[in-house]
Amino acid sequence: MLDQVDEVVDKLAPCIERGFSLYDDGQWKNVETGFLHCPQCATVRRMNISVYDSGSLIWQLIAKKVNPDWMRPGVGFEGTGEPSKNSEPSLFSYICVQCDCHIAALVYWSPEGPAIATFPNKNGGLSTKHTPAEVAYQLDQAYRCHIVSANTAAVAAFRVALDQILHEQGYTTGMLNQKLSDLDNDIKANTAKAWAKLLDPAFLKVIQRLGNKSVHPKRVARLAAYDTAMVIRLQLTFSKLLNLIYEKQHGDKDLLMQLEAINKKV
Ligand SMILES: [Zn+2]
Repeated sequence: MLDQVDEVVDKLAPCIERGFSLYDDGQWKNVETGFLHCPQCATVRRMNISVYDSGSLIWQLIAKKVNPDWMRPGVGFEGTGEPSKNSEPSLFSYICVQCDCHIAALVYWSPEGPAIATFPNKNGGLSTKHTPAEVAYQLDQAYRCHIVSANTAAVAAFRVALDQILHEQGYTTGMLNQKLSDLDNDIKANTAKAWAKLLDPAFLKVIQRLGNKSVHPKRVARLAAYDTAMVIRLQLTFSKLLNLIYEKQHGDKDLLMQLEAINKKV
């Protein structure tokens, strides 16, 4: 995904290896494409990558990958053989090929080394067309935390989003643990809604446990496990959940209405 520095370097490095300039006739070009979650389409989309300001950081990272000899001590940049902490950040724009969503992407030097932050010009995070506003708000909060690498805060927000989903689905008593217990009882009694029978309840319980540990960790150092890859797995889980609860029924209705409309015309 294009919210990982290594992915951006991998995408742009072949352009440099081929001698393909990112700059042409006074204009930065759309140089490559990659994949990222689009907040407006509410799913992963192909994105065109456009360069606003290449800075020097991305060049150093690419140079190290394409030809480490360029980075050997005494050659290029500061002659240290490593990308410089003081290098200029690099600024890109990702543009969804399916809609008009633009996402600014900043590659910068964080306390942990090269990092990337992405800032879309649309709200929404993971919400889908029929996601209730209260749930969408919490998912948007999780998304905003994640795009600036505050993944522990993102996991806590995902837990709140799950609580909000269950509340909206009629589980209004007690805290999240009670809501999950009530849902379990409904599944066993065969009185739960259709979506609950199509999803392994273990998904909901692990979201709860991960969220609990984000707020009350045994050791803060262990929260390093809440990395981008882990948040992407949570996003995939919520995407599945939202589609089961809020979109599947509408999708079936829309499809049936379209077929019936054609039937009337024939
Ligand atoms: Zn889009």
